[in-house]
Amino acid sequence: MSITTYANQHVLDLVAYQPGKPIEETARELGMNPEDIVKLASNENSLGPSPRAINAMCAAAAGAHIYPDGASFTLRSKLADMFGVAFEQTVVGSGSSEIIELLCHACLNEKAELIAAKHSFSMYPIMCKLFGAKYVEVDNKADWSHDLMGMLKAITPDTRLIFITNPTNPVGTMVYQEEIDAFMEKVPGHVIIAFDEAYIDFADEKPDTLKYVKQGKNVILLRTFSKAYGLAGLRAGYGITTPEIADLLNKARTPFNMNLMAQAATVAALEDKEHIAASVKMVNEGKKQFYAAFDSWGIPYIPSHGNFILVKTGKGREVFNACLSKGVILRHMDGYGLPEYIRITVGNQSENTRCLEVLKEVCGK
Ligand SMILES: *Cc1c(COP(=O)(O)O)cnc(C)c1O
Repeated sequence: MSITTYANQHVLDLVAYQPGKPIEETARELGMNPEDIVKLASNENSLGPSPRAINAMCAAAAGAHIYPDGASFTLRSKLADMFGVAFEQTVVGSGSSEIIELLCHACLNEKAELIAAKHSFSMYPIMCKLFGAKYVEVDNKADWSHDLMGMLKAITPDTRLIFITNPTNPVGTMVYQEEIDAFMEKVPGHVIIAFDEAYIDFADEKPDTLKYVKQGKNVILLRTFSKAYGLAGLRAGYGITTPEIADLLNKARTPFNMNLMAQAATVAALEDKEHIAASVKMVNEGKKQFYAAFDSWGIPYIPSHGNFILVKTGKGREVFNACLSKGVILRHMDGYGLPEYIRITVGNQSENTRCLEVLKEVCGK
């Protein structure tokens, strides 16, 4: 008899997270040089990490035989300073994905429900199902933005967690202050609201969600170093929340969940405002480059507040495969219930140009 007979059914039923296809693997399969592959699949930052972060990692490397600071004191103190909250209101982790997992650890079980918007980050249903909880998906509004009032209506006594992804991935839309305020006014006290702000650096308007944390509402802001900070390979993210929720999450985590290099690099990266500004500038210019091409070809897309664009090429998986065979890795959206679309991460000018050349050919434009 197979060991899976004894495994938890809700784990057996899971479909594992599908990451963007790695460059090395693609190069091997195509017999190409890794340098000739363009990866615009995982919303990474083509500028790379801040040079200050790289220096900090190099300096930290020689001390890698010693366990890191389990409390991540320097990083969390810096975050507390930046956000004007107490040290006890900060949580750090191996990517904000880990903080999402910790939230699920803290409040989900077989009776609990989690609410998220349709076509949002695929980690939410995976984590939700991992804990045997019910995943409740709320349709978006006609403009593809989260329907916050619809989410309110979906709340039951068993609802424990709501994710508001702002800007949302893979769609790229946002919700703004007025809607968020109206929503927050009506949210009952038994629900934790997680504002997943992985792409907030790219948004020109940044709603104030920190105020709810400061008011003591059951709110957590989730941020990551994987996108604008260009540190996806390092695995680093954080949450800003109430001391109560932070304490719960700190109880649920493993002892050294933020590694030595990640602690060193993120402290340095937070100081490099120029690098973030340069990343945002690159993305804004890149979006113009893509939009101009799509407009001239008559290919519909959703204007994005993130560093990626959801494009309606039709036959997303076929377009993805055709681009892949030419060394350009994009993301098809089958797993997100959007088979007509592909998602393109905005890279640097030459990557974008190469991507557009390949797409032009593939889409017959
Ligand atoms: C990328 C992303 C994250 C964070 O990913 P980590 O690399 O685990 O920090 C969180 N939420 C959304 C919506 C994302 O797209």
